[in-house]
Amino acid sequence: MGSMSQQQFENFTASSLYCDKCKAAMPVRERLLLILPDKEVYDYLCTGCASSVGQREVTAGEKLMAQAATPRRARRAAPAPRLHL
Ligand SMILES: [Zn+2]
Repeated sequence: MGSMSQQQFENFTASSLYCDKCKAAMPVRERLLLILPDKEVYDYLCTGCASSVGQREVTAGEKLMAQAATPRRARRAAPAPRLHL
């Protein structure tokens, strides 16, 4: 139980990056490209032409820091889990 309400914000975190093909700053979609034991590699795809415009590596340490600094949005959405029996 509880698995149905998995967070959907995760691929909505990226903003805009410059795309060579579109010659403009385009909204990008973040996609998990590679999972390594100590880090994860994300690929940024242009939403206009679907080409890769950048990559980002997130180490385990950075991930922990990101979790510590939880965005207010997420906290507001789910302040505390509640169980209804
Ligand atoms: Zn593009």
